[in-house]
Amino acid sequence: MKTYLVTGGCGFIGSNFIIQELQKGNKIINLDSMSYAANKHNLKGCEANPDYIFVEGDICDQTLVGSILKKYRADAVVNFAAESHVDNSIAGPEIFIQTNIMGTYHLLWATLKYWQEQGMPKSFRFLHVSTDEVFGDLELDATEKFHENTSYKPSSPYSASKAASDHLVRSWYRTYDLPIIVTNCSNNFGPRQHKEKLIPHMISCALNGKALPVYGKGENIRDWIYVEDHCRGIALALEKGKIGDTYCLGGNCELQNIEIVKRICDLLDELKPREDGQSYHEQISFVQDRLGHDVRYAVDDTKAQRELGYKTEATFDINFRKTVCWFLKN
Ligand code: NAD
Repeated sequence: MKTYLVTGGCGFIGSNFIIQELQKGNKIINLDSMSYAANKHNLKGCEANPDYIFVEGDICDQTLVGSILKKYRADAVVNFAAESHVDNSIAGPEIFIQTNIMGTYHLLWATLKYWQEQGMPKSFRFLHVSTDEVFGDLELDATEKFHENTSYKPSSPYSASKAASDHLVRSWYRTYDLPIIVTNCSNNFGPRQHKEKLIPHMISCALNGKALPVYGKGENIRDWIYVEDHCRGIALALEKGKIGDTYCLGGNCELQNIEIVKRICDLLDELKPREDGQSYHEQISFVQDRLGHDVRYAVDDTKAQRELGYKTEATFDINFRKTVCWFLKN
């Protein structure tokens, strides 16, 4: 049994990761500052589990982080805590700098002190969860996807702040030998995602009779990874990843945003038809494009497949239906 300090565990991916790891018998301390993006209901089912401990607090609080690591003798830190919404980063970048860059720094510094006090065990891990958005975007017809050696070219304040945090994490390996791993993944979808993100937002607008606001012409492409596949990839990286290395995790499923929205409409037409007999497709509307909107993301996860045994489990269609059904129930 391992003990993990998970940061940002009340958010979308962190909560799915915690549920997965508790099922395996691992112990989890979840440090979350309960920002607007946190949802304690995400982990309602875990509260009675003696292996689950929740601490409300900030990753910027080095004293708190240090005391948690020491008290529970953590075997790893898995860092999900972040400001994660690109649109918010365009409207107000400062909190992204504070949480994603300064927060990662404070977490690294507290972790390094703890790790040194423990005698620098090689088995310890600091796993930093990052995004493919640090690589910028791809031409529509580019044949090479993002991979571990793609150079960084972030477009938004969000992706720039994540890029900075990735660099800090790698520097803690090179400079201090802290056993780190970085994962860069594509767009996640699945249960427990915050309603500000594309899929839950469109479902919510559809069910509330509102317009479904699609940026530009909806032609931007994302590579969709099911959140449970992503969480399994992170667990594999913790278990088998090489210290100091980076692993790209993708869904191998590139879709235009408009295609996602149309699929939501198709599923809602089937599962919860509109009372007036019309299709949800009628609600689709095109709005002014996001500033600096990245054209296309696509991840080549060959290295993770080869070295970690990472693979996606079910098809996009199966997972997408599960996701829409989950949001209809919740
Ligand atoms: P989220 O916004 O759903 O959750 C983030 C969580 O972090 C929230 O519970 C929030 O309260 C917490 N948090 C924020 N600031 C904190 C602080 N200072 N101290 C402690 N906790 C804090 O995010 P998510 O979608 O679950 O993403 C998790 C991680 O994965 C992020 O680092 C994000 O950059 C990365 N990522 C997400 C995606 C995606 O598609 N969602 C894709 C690639 C990478």
